[in-house]
Amino acid sequence: MVVHDTAVTGPHRSDAPPTPVREVEIAVIGGGVGGIGLAVALRRRGIEDFVVLERGNDFGGTWRDNTYPGAACDVPSHLYSFSFDHNPDWSQTFSTQPEIQDYILGVAERHHIREKFSFDHELIAADWDEPTSRWMLATTHGPISARLVVSAMGALCEPNMPDIEGLDRFDGPVFHSAQWDHTVDLAHKRVAVIGTGASAIQIVPAIASTVAHLDVFQRTAPWIFPRLLRNYSKLERFAFRRVPGLTSGFRSILYLLREIYAIVLIKFPPATAGLGLIAAVKMRIEVRDRALRARVTPEYRVGCQRMLSSNEYYPALGRENVDVVTSGIAGVQKDSIVTVDGTVRPVDAIVVATGFRITDSPTFDLFRGRAGRTLTQIYAEHGVSAYKGTAVAGFPNMFVILGPNSGLGYSSAIYMIESQIKYIVDAVAAVHNRQIASVEVRPEVQERYNSDLQRKMSKSVWVTGGCRSWFLDSTGRNVALWPDFSFRFRRQLSTFDIESYDVVQRAESLTAGVSAIPGSRR
Ligand code: NAP
Repeated sequence: MVVHDTAVTGPHRSDAPPTPVREVEIAVIGGGVGGIGLAVALRRRGIEDFVVLERGNDFGGTWRDNTYPGAACDVPSHLYSFSFDHNPDWSQTFSTQPEIQDYILGVAERHHIREKFSFDHELIAADWDEPTSRWMLATTHGPISARLVVSAMGALCEPNMPDIEGLDRFDGPVFHSAQWDHTVDLAHKRVAVIGTGASAIQIVPAIASTVAHLDVFQRTAPWIFPRLLRNYSKLERFAFRRVPGLTSGFRSILYLLREIYAIVLIKFPPATAGLGLIAAVKMRIEVRDRALRARVTPEYRVGCQRMLSSNEYYPALGRENVDVVTSGIAGVQKDSIVTVDGTVRPVDAIVVATGFRITDSPTFDLFRGRAGRTLTQIYAEHGVSAYKGTAVAGFPNMFVILGPNSGLGYSSAIYMIESQIKYIVDAVAAVHNRQIASVEVRPEVQERYNSDLQRKMSKSVWVTGGCRSWFLDSTGRNVALWPDFSFRFRRQLSTFDIESYDVVQRAESLTAGVSAIPGSRR
């Protein structure tokens, strides 16, 4: 890594003395699962000239931030982990947030990547500089110049605060599920939880028995499935540790079982009726009160919104001190929430579990590609889309982890992330070995890719199931999820298809010889 003394002023401090520009080959933004996986993969390929900028003070991203009571994962523990670092010691079939965060920290330590991470470094702006074919990054710790930029910020990094009249004037504590205020003791308080998504259905049972009263504000009822949760026995964990290939084999079984969802949700949505039956029977058993059952029965096809699993949510809703409020929120007063039917519900604290800004993330404003145009502007014009969820036309030398249509509605996001990492590392190696100044996906290739993708999507329950969800943009297009088997995503990213990109050679490339990064097409 080179630090130039060229006097360039950090853009955020125009009157401050010049800050030296730090020069790197690759700048990765985000120290969550994506950033960690990429750092490990780059080092394994012998690529050392990179830095990972993380705005928080530790590894983990969304798993570091989401510390709300009851936080856990819906994907089986053995599947929700890196392929290169199996954990035989998962304590349960589905892991809690603390255990996942411990695992993530363990991966970072075991693979010695800490020195590559700059914590408390927030990206302020990233500008493509045409003349030098480099990205100029403004950060809270000064400027960085990088040949390549990888956004590993993920989709769940920007909390969505609802635009509710008076929320800012509420006297008591108000916090988002991803920014849980652990200094607030909710015991014996009247609490409101806004939202009934994946986070809320974990929070509600976790706090219902300690609060004085709980109002759950439901806009759309979720479909909820049994959670096949149990502890792994000592014997099972011993076997996972000692029997060669057992964790791999078990992961493969879990993986294949999850792929069945792709058939049901995408290829043959009428089959969701079978899933609907399971969820309806569960509801019938767990919600004895007819009126409550009517209120929590969804009006859209199973799978249209993300399918949730919990054994405790419905029983929590049935408690004496819990109300499910289906009348919309008209506004918030200093000590109460008023619903559109005119009811005033006194509350002491408000938990906002309204999800994340996924299709309109403010992080899209940070990146300015060709002609100074931001991702927000490009997306507004062409819709939120990318090539293979990983590259965007107009943004040379930039890659995205978990970009548009690379989310998975039914299995492990880490599988998708690792598929993208392989592709990105191949691209990095190609840029190095071929002495390339810039690579940029061709707009017509990206367009063709997306019309094909949306054609596959058109049958899926996500767009035909009659619901509104965070998968959809304002025009109703699913811009978040991958509409096929996940192994097809992996296959299409298995090698960097440079022929789909416009390539500009470096001027010096005609004369200079370079030592090749191994395992790459030259
Ligand atoms: P979410 O699934 O987007 O749910 C947000 C909830 O807030 C929905 O019920 C939504 O209602 C409601 N809402 C949004 N804006 C509102 C408003 N203005 N007024 C009233 N209600 C409003 O968010 P999340 O629960 O935080 O989960 C986000 C994603 O994180 C998940 O889909 C999943 O990928 C991940 N996650 C996973 C787990 C897990 O594995 N168990 C746990 C937590 C999070 P509508 O449905 O009507 O929009």
